This record gives sequence, C-alpha cells and structure tokens, in this order.
Amino acid sequence: MSYARGLATAAVKAGAVIHEHTPVTKLENAGGKWTVKTATGTVTADKVIVATNAYSDDLWPGMKQEIIPVGCYMYATEPLGENVRKTILPSLHPIYDTQPAMVFTRYDRDHRLVVGSLGYLPPGDVAAARTWPHRTLRYLFPHLGEQKMSFKWAGTLGFTSDAIPRFHEPAPGISMTLGYNGRGIAPGTYWGQMLAKRAMGMAASEFPLPVTPIKPARMRSMWMFFYESAFSAYRLKSLFK
Ligand SMILES: Cc1cc2nc3c(=O)[nH]c(=O)nc-3n(C[C@H](O)[C@H](O)[C@H](O)COP(=O)(O)OP(=O)(O)OC[C@H]3O[C@@H](n4cnc5c(N)ncnc54)[C@H](O)[C@@H]3O)c2cc1C
Repeated sequence: MSYARGLATAAVKAGAVIHEHTPVTKLENAGGKWTVKTATGTVTADKVIVATNAYSDDLWPGMKQEIIPVGCYMYATEPLGENVRKTILPSLHPIYDTQPAMVFTRYDRDHRLVVGSLGYLPPGDVAAARTWPHRTLRYLFPHLGEQKMSFKWAGTLGFTSDAIPRFHEPAPGISMTLGYNGRGIAPGTYWGQMLAKRAMGMAASEFPLPVTPIKPARMRSMWMFFYESAFSAYRLKSLFK
C-alpha cells in the first residue's frame, strides 16, 4: 500500500491525474483516437495502457478469461519486542515453505511479523480462518507465544496457465501486461516504465516480453475450482497440526 501510494505521488508530481473509484466501462476507437468511457466522464487519448491484472473485467474481450484468479491473505501481529526478534528471523529474511498452499512470513518496517498464505478466506467470522494465523505461527515458531493480530488484508493474484506473464497489443494504441502470478511488485513496476516508453514510441520488439494474442486460460473453471479446493484443504489440514 505504501509503495502504491509512493508511485502515485511520483506520478502526480510528474503531472499525471489520478481518478480513483472510476471504473472504465468502455474503450472506443474513432479516427485513430481512443475514447475511454466511465460513468462520470470520458478521456480521449492516442494510447491506452490497460493495467488491471487480476482485477481485469470485461473491458477488453478475453482479458478476464486469460487470468486464473487466486486468493491471497495476510495477517500482521503487533510489533514484536527486540528480545523475541533476536530468536525469530534475526537477519530479517522473508521465508516461505514448499507446500502447495505456501505459507510466507517476514517482518514489516514496524517489526510486526506478517504471515500469509493462498486461497480466499471464507467471509465472516469463521473460526478456521480466525485461528489460522495463531496456529500457523505456533507451528512455525513454537516459542513465540500467543500474539494479537493487528491487521489482516487479502486480495486476488492473477495466475496464468503456464505461470508466464503476458504482453498484449490487441489493437493499435492499446498495450497491456498482466498475469504476474503473485509476483508483480518488481516486474510490474519495470514493465510499467516499459509500457510508458512503448506509448512514447519505443518499438514493441524492445519490450522485455513478446507480444502475444489474448488467449483464454485452458480449463480455467477447473483450475479455479482446483486451487480453491486445494488451498481450503490445506487450511483445514493445518487445524490438526
Ligand atoms: C495479499 C497479497 C500479497 C501479495 N504479495 C506480493 C509480494 O510479496 N510480492 C509481489 O511481487 N507481489 C505480491 N502480490 C501481487 C501484487 O500485489 C500484484 O502482482 C501487483 O499489485 C500487480 O500490480 P498491477 O498494478 O498490475 O495491478 P493491481 O495492483 O491489481 O491494480 C489493478 C487495478 O486495476 C483496477 N481496475 C480493474 N478493472 C478496471 C476498470 N475497468 N477500470 C479502471 N480500473 C480497473 C483495479 O481496481 C485495481 O486497482 C500480492 C498480492 C496480494 C493480494
């Protein structure tokens, strides 16, 4: 969140205008220019960068179907004391394990231990979800003791069927990258710069990814069902650890 805000601040300083809570409902081309339509206004432009990744809707045909949405959630403890920190990840390494619904943990800048995994947590106050971070931290660091969770957050990752991100130019003036498979912070920032260069005239062949046609993920519904069932099963399994 801080990083997104930092990027937004830099963009605004460079002259960008950001319209939050303004979904684009249609992209229309007339005479080589694009009209970007929203419920409250329109913008006309020569070039459009579509950067909706896991949250892609039906704005451009096929984008949504190319992405396999996968849930991801995280919890953060209260800041840990110095003595405990000497015994848990003392070199501040982030770690993750190798089970399919991997568990990852690291410190944030305020010394909170952040722990997360994959899947969509059930809505509401469900015990299996509420107790998950406590059980998981107890399993990873038995000496840590019971911790109060001060934050939790969740979102959607955009997987592709082969775990490779995509670069598309489905019409003249439209560029898009998507499908970061849960690792979009660094590459997304870099490709964002590259998309800007492309909009300013850089050749498509200089882009770090090949231009490919938009293709729906094969057996998307099956994968969505498989991932969700597998991640829920792992979460339930951890109840018995
Ligand atoms: C809990 C969690 C933890 C993660 N941890 C990591 C990590 O440790 N490292 C890492 O590299 N990645 C991580 N990721 C993935 C990373 O957050 C994404 O890869 C990255 O945010 C993608 O950036 P983006 O700008 O392409 O898309 P997003 O940040 O998803 O932004 C897309 C935006 O498009 C908007 N949008 C969608 N449709 C429309 C429309 N029609 N009109 C206008 N706007 C629209 C959405 O509202 C959204 O704001 C994590 C994701 C989650 C959910």
